[in-house]
Amino acid sequence: AKKLGRNNFQFYTPAMNEESLERVRIESALRNAVERDEFVLYYQPQLDIKTGKIVGMEALIRWQHPELGTVPPGRFIGIAEETGMIVQIGAWVLRSACAQNKAWQDAGYGKLRVAVNLSARQFGAADLIENLASVLEDTGLEPEYLEIELTESLFMSDITPAVDLLHRMKALGVNLSIDDFGTGYSSLSYLSRFPIDVLKIDRSFVADITRDANDEAIVTSIIALAHNLKLAVIAEGVETSEQLDYLRRHGCDEMQGYYFSRPLPAREFEQLLIEGRGL
Ligand code: C2E
Ligand code: CA
Ligand code: CA
Ligand code: CA
Repeated sequence: AKKLGRNNFQFYTPAMNEESLERVRIESALRNAVERDEFVLYYQPQLDIKTGKIVGMEALIRWQHPELGTVPPGRFIGIAEETGMIVQIGAWVLRSACAQNKAWQDAGYGKLRVAVNLSARQFGAADLIENLASVLEDTGLEPEYLEIELTESLFMSDITPAVDLLHRMKALGVNLSIDDFGTGYSSLSYLSRFPIDVLKIDRSFVADITRDANDEAIVTSIIALAHNLKLAVIAEGVETSEQLDYLRRHGCDEMQGYYFSRPLPAREFEQLLIEGRGL
C-alpha cells in the first residue's frame, strides 16, 4: 500500500494494474505516433442556423495505432497533456487543419473557418505565437478562417499572462472561442477583459434543453449573455430536430452535432461540400 495522506491508504488492485499498464502502453506508443504518421484529423461541420449553410468545421484528432487500433482522444489527450507530448501533437493538428482548410478553399468550396482545440500546455508553450504565425504564413490561410478553441481552465491560474497571450493571438487576426462554456469554475469577469469572439455552449446543457427547465434557462442565458457582449454563440452536441428548433427560436447563431453530421474523415467532409449539403 502507498501512503497518500494521514489516514488514506491506496491499495493497488488488479484492475488498477491493468489501467496503469494500458497507460504505460499508450504513453510509449504516443512517443512515436507523430513521426509514424498515425494521427488523422476528422472534421465536424458547423452550420449557420439561419441560413442552414456549413460555415466551418471543428478539427478532431483520431489516432490509428497498428496494434492498439483506433484510440479515441478521451484515452490519450490527457496522457499527452501530462507528459507534454500534446505540444508536438497539437502543433501537428494546427498545421494539418490549416493546410486542409486552405486546400478546400483553393478547390473552390467557399471560405470556411476551421476550429482547432488548444490545450493548456500549448497555451503555456513559449513559442505559441511564433508557431501560430508561421503556420499561417506557411499554409497561406488567412487568419480570419482559423478559430482557436480554448477552455476556461486556461484562465483560472494566473490571469495576467493569459490576457496578454490572448491579445497577441488576437493581433494575428485569428478568432478565439471558449469551448465547453459553462462547465468551468472561472468567474465571468474574464469575458469582458479577454478578446473573445465566440462562446461554445457545452453539449451537457444542450442534451436536455427540451426536457429540463434548468438547462433551458442556462442555454437561453448563455445565448443572451453572448449577444449582449457582441459575441457569436454556437451550440455543440445537437442531436435532435427538437434541440435545433429550440436553439433556432432562441437565436443561437450556429450548431454542431450528430443531428447534422458526426465528425468525418476529410474525404467524406469534402463530399458534403461538393453536394452543397446544409440544414
Ligand atoms: P470537444 O472539444 O468538446 O469536442 C467535441 C466532442 O463532442 C468530440 O468528441 C465530438 O465527436 C463530440 N460530439 C460532437 N457532436 C456530438 C453529438 O451530437 N453528441 C455527442 N454525444 N457527442 C458529440 P471527440 O472527437 O471524441 O473528442 C473528445 C475531446 O478530445 C474533445 O472534446 C477535445 O477536448 C479533445 N480533442 C479532440 N481533438 C483534439 C485536438 O486536436 N487537440 C486537443 N487538445 N484536444 C482534442
Ligand atoms: Ca472543442
Ligand atoms: Ca466542446
Ligand atoms: Ca464538452
